[in-house]
Amino acid sequence: MNDMLRESPYPMLAVEDALATVLAHVRHLPLEQVDALRAEGRILADDLVAPEDLPDLPKAAMDGYALRSSDGLIPRRVVAELTAGVNPTLLVGPGEASRIMTGTPMPAGADAMIPVEQTRETEGMLVIERVVRPGEHVHSVGQDLSRGALVLARGTRLTPADVGIMATLGITQVAVFRRPRVAVLATGDEVYEPSAPRPVGAVRDSNRYALLAAVREAGGVAISLGIARDDRETQRRAILEGIAQADVLLTSGGVSMGTRDLIKPILAELGTIHFGRIKFKPGKPTTFASVGDTLVFGLPGYPVSSLVAFEIIVRPALRALQGDPQPLRPRVLARVETDIRPSSDRPEYQRVRLSWRGSELWATSTGNQGSSRLLSLHGANGLLIVPPGLQIYPAGSSLEVLVTGEIFNQNIG
Ligand code: AMP
Ligand code: MG
Repeated sequence: MNDMLRESPYPMLAVEDALATVLAHVRHLPLEQVDALRAEGRILADDLVAPEDLPDLPKAAMDGYALRSSDGLIPRRVVAELTAGVNPTLLVGPGEASRIMTGTPMPAGADAMIPVEQTRETEGMLVIERVVRPGEHVHSVGQDLSRGALVLARGTRLTPADVGIMATLGITQVAVFRRPRVAVLATGDEVYEPSAPRPVGAVRDSNRYALLAAVREAGGVAISLGIARDDRETQRRAILEGIAQADVLLTSGGVSMGTRDLIKPILAELGTIHFGRIKFKPGKPTTFASVGDTLVFGLPGYPVSSLVAFEIIVRPALRALQGDPQPLRPRVLARVETDIRPSSDRPEYQRVRLSWRGSELWATSTGNQGSSRLLSLHGANGLLIVPPGLQIYPAGSSLEVLVTGEIFNQNIG
């Protein structure tokens, strides 16, 4: 066939091999100390150990009366009222009890409590109608967490609950992995700033803004490098500027076979290209290189291709750089709503909307899957992995889907 004559010099890697190559070049970034109470989403760089017991004193678990379980059913004289925030100094003696509110440390002598709903109090005497077991409704020392125990392990992605746990323990600073600084450069003589007047035939730079947003969503610090014209020296300088300030550089466009596609030769000159093509659709010319310590991803120009390549290849790298032990998106099996036509030669990542119906996950296509149609990504929460071939997958078939967003629930209740 003729197109063999103009074959790219770069071998085409399977997606798994491309991803493995990328992850093999990722070293997680150095750690930094941050405010623990605002650290949700960050990845812990050290194990966190409980500095104290939780609770640190035995406490009443309900509103009621602290008493001595060994007194049995006898009426008790009520000697005090203890409310939260007070550390009691009294001793509850035989035949005595004290009113006590939830969360208040238990007074000495009392080994149990009874909830107020199960009592009567007349003329200063507490009357109960059942025996109370030792320790009943007492929140004992270290019951929630004992001092020295591992609370949150290195590699934990901190959640709001984790922030609460750290606050409870008085941990206000934590070590987390630094976020990657990610610079994004658009290329193309036809590419213009969205706010600028657009000459005839020009396109607005959607890729840079979408990629900057995707970088932030993935936990990176996004740095815009603007738009470089299709001129070798201009692009070379812009790339060097990116390398100087970022852990990762993303470029958009200029990686195909056109005469003004200059990114690959520039990267080959400045550093090492690890791969220059991936066997997937969309995004075949996606390129990965190292220049010094900076990882460089040359993403395709077509808007859908650049974002899908980001999702499949770049996002896992950004997650791994910030210490995420599970940098890949979850995968599920879903049934396809309509017939799916595969690409003949490459696995294809089709944009779908995943939703629960009854106990089944269904994947609905977002429509025309053209590489320029950004709207195919709008409303998509999954990438349907369609293996290559000639055979159509009929509606109802089960295929794997990468989950990229929240799954809709069409069930009521
Ligand atoms: P290229 O890979 O440089 O040949 O670009 C392929 C196509 O993607 C171009 O013809 C443009 O229509 C489009 N494109 C390139 N860069 C951008 C960008 N930054 N934003 C939107 N579309 C772009
Ligand atoms: Mg171009």
